[in-house]
Amino acid sequence: MLGRALLALLVLVGGGARALAAPPSVIFILLDTTRADRLSAWGNPRPTTPALDRLAADGVQFVRHFANAHATRPSMPQLMSGRYYHSNILGAFQTDSHPREMSFARRDPTAALLPAMLRDRGYTTAAVSAHTWIAADSELGRPFEHFELLPFTAADGHGDAAPLVDRAIALWRARGRGRPLFLYLHFMDMHIPRRLPEGEPRFAVPGYDWRARFTANGEPDFGQDRRRWDRHDARDFTDRDRAHYEAVYDTRLQYTDEQLARLLSAVRDEDPGLRDTVIVVTADHGEELGEDGRIEHPASLADGVQHVPWIVAGGPVEPGRRCTGVTEHVDVVPTLLALLGLPLPSDVTVDGRAWFEATGRLVAPCGGTAAYYAWEDYRAVRAHRYLFEERPPGSFEARCGGEARLHRVDALHRRRLAAPGIERRMGRLRRLLRDRLAERERAFRADRYDAPARSFVVRADFWRTTDAASVRCVRVDESTDRSALGTDGWMWSGRGVTARGAEGPPLSVRLEVPAGVYAVDAAATPIAAPPWLFGFARWRRKAFLPDVPSEFPPLGTLDASRGELALELPAALGRGHHVLALRLTPPGATPSVPGVGEGQRDPLKTLGYVQ
Ligand SMILES: [Zn+2]
Repeated sequence: MLGRALLALLVLVGGGARALAAPPSVIFILLDTTRADRLSAWGNPRPTTPALDRLAADGVQFVRHFANAHATRPSMPQLMSGRYYHSNILGAFQTDSHPREMSFARRDPTAALLPAMLRDRGYTTAAVSAHTWIAADSELGRPFEHFELLPFTAADGHGDAAPLVDRAIALWRARGRGRPLFLYLHFMDMHIPRRLPEGEPRFAVPGYDWRARFTANGEPDFGQDRRRWDRHDARDFTDRDRAHYEAVYDTRLQYTDEQLARLLSAVRDEDPGLRDTVIVVTADHGEELGEDGRIEHPASLADGVQHVPWIVAGGPVEPGRRCTGVTEHVDVVPTLLALLGLPLPSDVTVDGRAWFEATGRLVAPCGGTAAYYAWEDYRAVRAHRYLFEERPPGSFEARCGGEARLHRVDALHRRRLAAPGIERRMGRLRRLLRDRLAERERAFRADRYDAPARSFVVRADFWRTTDAASVRCVRVDESTDRSALGTDGWMWSGRGVTARGAEGPPLSVRLEVPAGVYAVDAAATPIAAPPWLFGFARWRRKAFLPDVPSEFPPLGTLDASRGELALELPAALGRGHHVLALRLTPPGATPSVPGVGEGQRDPLKTLGYVQ
């Protein structure tokens, strides 16, 4: 504590006259799963967000703001560090089973999270969270002096805005007046399950019996066979189903805005002009509401998922301004620090730009022309009316869906463009993307791990195959018939690989892993012989749907001393198995099965993250 106080004092002394005035307190409102166009300030004709609209009018509205990734776990590290590449910062999900979720990830000393930076500058730090992943014992949670996770049942899946705001107001009123407060609030109301506060949608679709199609939690009660394979598939929604789905979302957003109104009014009671309080509002990602046949937040990178609100008001912010250029999540931390008059720590770097001067004026012109999306299995750039994405070369996703993809973006619709005639535009966007991300990604991947001490798995999504390897792409779902599976060779099902036919060559795969020697096992589920006559649908489900491995056939001890593991999967193994991953166990460790922690499974199931 002494060190921290001393540092704060040094900052005060060293920062000159401006820093002698205490910086304003900060309330950071994170609306999980909230897309920009559903706020009335962003054009929704329904009055969903009067309180946020007023806040935007009192401050700056960043009209074209984009999340750097499609979901909570990929997005939060980028938002909170201002860096495109960063390992997991949230509470445990399936530890050691995703390249960004490894327990042996190395902390990058040149990256820092917002709560840690503000704590080190003398802020009192407190958080209230409605999301099980936004937790005290995570890298994001640890810098907070006070952290509250709201209680909720597994069936609810997440906390509610009303008790969250109650706690926020209580913490706000009880704050010490000697130090500024950083209060982080994580709302989950726009995430499924979306309960209707009055039992009916507030923007009901006339003459539509929603109870015949949807649950009281806003989830489709039809098409289970389809969504068992892909929960984002909404190609069977009618226009009225879509309208209801959107009405429930808007209801939940309006309800949240009413709760936020209570908080904002409690803050204005003490600080009517928000002179001593900066309020930041944004979302980790958006939500697709049936446009283009998708719901929730898949990695479609469509605007429904990526375009999110960003409002900054209070403190020195010049009121009533709009930033109409493109901004992105990596800009949020540098922009806020600039506004607070706090320079970045000298050993820390960010990728984003500050869009405020310390006086509270917007930088002119505000915003750029492109937003970048970065995660383990995609990188993409969104510029003008185009979205260009790249999938890792040699991955099944690249082999089966194309390594480079260009889409035209029209409002909430994303339409893939085909050659010929697109090469020049693809080339320009590819250069833009590589200039911005390639070196950052390379440096991150080269240095992200310490030596592992226990088993971890690398799912087939993250393998690379050689060009010579022959693999058929058969995305298995409820409509896949017997003939589509083929009779011989290796096949990618969309989840894993299996081999068909009596004999065939092995499958050569390569993985990027921490340098070392490993005992390697396949991680698979068994596949029985398909039935001759009846029961194919059941067999298909049993063979291809489970994504938790139950068998671990050994493949030997292999050397990955250069950080790359190369191996051959024997066809005989592939014939009786759906191989989902490879399990690597370092010397001295006992092979174990990474998975979701007990107590986590039920709430995560309600949120749709585990089967
Ligand atoms: Zn989220």
